[in-house]
Amino acid sequence: MFNFTFPNPNPFHMKKLFLITALAGIMASCNQPAKQQTAVVITDSTKTEINVVDKGNVAFGQYFIDKTMRLDFNHSGTSREEHFAIDRIVSDGAWPGSKFVLIDKLELGPYFFKVIDNATKTVLFSRGFASIFGEWQSIPEADKTWGSFNESIRFPWPLKPVTVILGKRDPQTNKFKTIWTADVDPASREVNPADLPHANVVDVIQENGPASEKVDIVILGDGYTKAEMGKFRNDAKKLSAFMMDQEPYISRKKDINIRTVETPSEVSGVCKPHPGVFKRSALGVQYGAFDSERYALTFDNKTVRNVASQVPYDFMIILVNERTYGGGGIYNLYTTVSVDNKYAEYIMVHEFGHHMGGLADEYYTSSVSYEAQDIKLEPWEPNVTALLDKNNFKWKDLVTPGTPLPTPWNKEPFDKFGYEVQKQRDSLRHAKVPEEVMEALFMRQYRQEDEYFSKEKYKESVGAFEGADYTQKGLFRSQLDCIMFTRHIHFCKVCQRSLINVMEQYTAKGPGK
Ligand SMILES: [Zn+2]
Repeated sequence: MFNFTFPNPNPFHMKKLFLITALAGIMASCNQPAKQQTAVVITDSTKTEINVVDKGNVAFGQYFIDKTMRLDFNHSGTSREEHFAIDRIVSDGAWPGSKFVLIDKLELGPYFFKVIDNATKTVLFSRGFASIFGEWQSIPEADKTWGSFNESIRFPWPLKPVTVILGKRDPQTNKFKTIWTADVDPASREVNPADLPHANVVDVIQENGPASEKVDIVILGDGYTKAEMGKFRNDAKKLSAFMMDQEPYISRKKDINIRTVETPSEVSGVCKPHPGVFKRSALGVQYGAFDSERYALTFDNKTVRNVASQVPYDFMIILVNERTYGGGGIYNLYTTVSVDNKYAEYIMVHEFGHHMGGLADEYYTSSVSYEAQDIKLEPWEPNVTALLDKNNFKWKDLVTPGTPLPTPWNKEPFDKFGYEVQKQRDSLRHAKVPEEVMEALFMRQYRQEDEYFSKEKYKESVGAFEGADYTQKGLFRSQLDCIMFTRHIHFCKVCQRSLINVMEQYTAKGPGK
């Protein structure tokens, strides 16, 4: 069996909200939050749909001022229900997104919000996203207890009263269904238009034009002391330069701005509950999220958002001043990466792929025996398909002429090898070996995979290779290899195109179609 993630060492994929089918047998692991075997049922928070008018992208200046409205809300519930309450509405400074592409046509993510003009019911803005609540909801704990998380959505500052409609994918259809609506009157005393006074040091790594015409990335650091700010600046430069040297970013460098905000902590390093290392760092990043040892997240949403709002940003990276392998990437929330691990560059590029592109993990846990699943729904992620219709699926236009579908590859020996690596990894982690021992295992795995791939007939082709998205059978990835599949640092063509599609939503300089 293959896979890096179950059980670990790369558990910080975006966990799927709605698992279409039961995977528990394949995924059993001491570290990995087990996935729900049944789809999440939305119960009492389901709302009736509002009939909205979609005129496409509206004229920005007619409905908005150049300012970012941040709606913080509390998102609570169990595996079976969820509830929302507005926390507060504040200004996050100038609007960093496009003023021309306001409607999100990509519709990625398990959640999707629309901002509607109250008077005419016209859709003014929309965006897909994923959330920590959504991930938490898929772990067993959510069957027994309530969870509550602070989250934010950001949109241009409306001139007139609007309604925010929040949708979530219906597990039966994968289509968005309204689960919450909130009225927002910008003139209300509950809306605070003042910008937050900031005192943090900011810096520019690359700036290629106005925020509203570029993809804006903010890099924050956690677990760096004041004395380590030089290290933070170096880490930020080094890791972002590495990412910008990969496709599709290298071709789009001029479309991307990268800025840093310094957030010194009183202590070096962050909280790691599994080995019993407890710390309070500036941004509250901690390993062990959802009891997954190497999943590093912060639940301190407002702190992070307040700091990030010091610069215009569309996407966020939090560098974690640790060597312990770890990170995370949540679509439209943030990326975390442990900077001193040997695989930091891989973690950064891979996790940012989840965060910016809504990309699925293309890996899966191999197992010796398993039951083939009956997958009836096409996943929403752009880089995996159930191949329900061979003549019409999301990357059909990119398939290399003459490539069979599904595309044959020597999956069996590859899976067998992966299974062995996984067993070794489990025992190493159990034995609490030093980080370099685990790193050496990953290196052996990397070389062996290279050797397997080098013998494959369709190694350069775009097709449909079985095994993707934690699923050994019935889900397909587009190419033999991709950074969403192994630690080889190269995006497949489908992932590259998906990332470009997202970037174009942020860089449009004229009226969108
Ligand atoms: Zn890919």
